[in-house]
Amino acid sequence: MRAMQITEITRVDQNPQPLKKVELPVPRPGEGEILIQIAACSVCHTELDEIEGRTPPPILPVIPGHQVVGKIVEKGPQVNKGQIGERVGVAWIYSACGKCAYCLSGNENLCADFCATGRDADGGYAQYMVARQDFVYPIPGIFSDAEAAPLLCAGAIGYRSLKLANLVDGQNLGLTGFGASAHLVLKMVQKRYPKTKVFVYSRSPQEQQFALELGAAWAGATEDQAPDKMHSIIDTTPAWKPVVEALRELAPGGRLVINAIRKEEFDKETLLKLDYSRHLWMEKEIKSVANVARSDVREFLKLAAEIPIKPEVQLFELEDANHALVELKNRQIRGAKVLMMS
Ligand SMILES: [Zn+2]
Ligand SMILES: [Zn+2]
Repeated sequence: MRAMQITEITRVDQNPQPLKKVELPVPRPGEGEILIQIAACSVCHTELDEIEGRTPPPILPVIPGHQVVGKIVEKGPQVNKGQIGERVGVAWIYSACGKCAYCLSGNENLCADFCATGRDADGGYAQYMVARQDFVYPIPGIFSDAEAAPLLCAGAIGYRSLKLANLVDGQNLGLTGFGASAHLVLKMVQKRYPKTKVFVYSRSPQEQQFALELGAAWAGATEDQAPDKMHSIIDTTPAWKPVVEALRELAPGGRLVINAIRKEEFDKETLLKLDYSRHLWMEKEIKSVANVARSDVREFLKLAAEIPIKPEVQLFELEDANHALVELKNRQIRGAKVLMMS
C-alpha cells in the first residue's frame, strides 16, 4: 500500500518534505482488530507537533493521521462488531486501558495508558490501517468521506472544548485562531447557543474574513479589544501571545479553554507580560483540553448530523501531504485540509 511516514524529528520550516513516501505491505488485523481501507484522512496541527518533536512518536517510523474515514474490509479474530463494507471513522483515541479510575468514569482521555492514533500506532496517511473494533465509529450517511474526516478530531475536540467552556446561551464566546476546529465550533454555537455572539481573534486577515463570512459577530487581530468582554474563550493557536491577550479579554469569572496538545516555544517570553490584575484577577480560569474520549466523538457525530454541520474542506492527494503540512505550518488555512486516498 502507499503511505506517508514520519521517519525523523525535523522542523517543517526548514524541511518542506518532512514525511517520506513509502510502499508497505497491507497490515493484518490482530485479535479484536479490524482492517480499514481508507478513503479520506484529515490533516491536523498535531501532526506538526509530532514531526517537530513536541509530542514525538515513541517509535519511528510511524504513519501519522488520526481523522480517518474508510470501509471495514477484514475482521481479525474475536471481532464481533461491524460489518464488512461498513463505513467507519477512527479518531485520536486509538485505545485506553479500560480499567483505571479515569477510564471507568468516562474520562478515558486522561488514562495513563492512552494510545494515540498516528503517533503511538500507525494512522491514516495510508491506503489501509488497523484499528480496535471498540474504537471506531459509524459515520452518518449525510456526510461525504471528505466532510466526515475533519469531524473526527477538529470537530470532536472542538465539541469537547465547547463543553469545557461552560457557556450559557447568550454569553459571549471568543475564539483565538480560526482554523479547522474553531470554524466547526462557530457552526456548533450557532445551533446550540443561538443567542451567543462569537468574536474571533486572529492574526490572519484571511481567517478574520472567513470568520465574518461564517457569521462571527466581530473579527479582529489577536491584540485588538473586542467591543464586549468574553464569558469564555477557546484558544486553538500554537502560540502564547493569544493566551495572554485572551485573558485580558475575559469578563470577570470567565474561562479560557486552551485546545492545543502542545504550545510552540517561539513567543514564550510573551508570558512575562502576564499582569495579575489585568489578566488573572477577578476569578478568571484557564483550562486545557486533553485528547478526546469516545463519547466526545460519538456525541459530536450525532450532533453534526442533526444540525447538520458540514466542514469546509480543501482536498489533497495522499502524496501531497507534505504540501498540506507546510501550508498548515504557515497558517494558510481555509477550513480543513483532507487527504484523499484515490
Ligand atoms: Zn487532531
Ligand atoms: Zn485507563
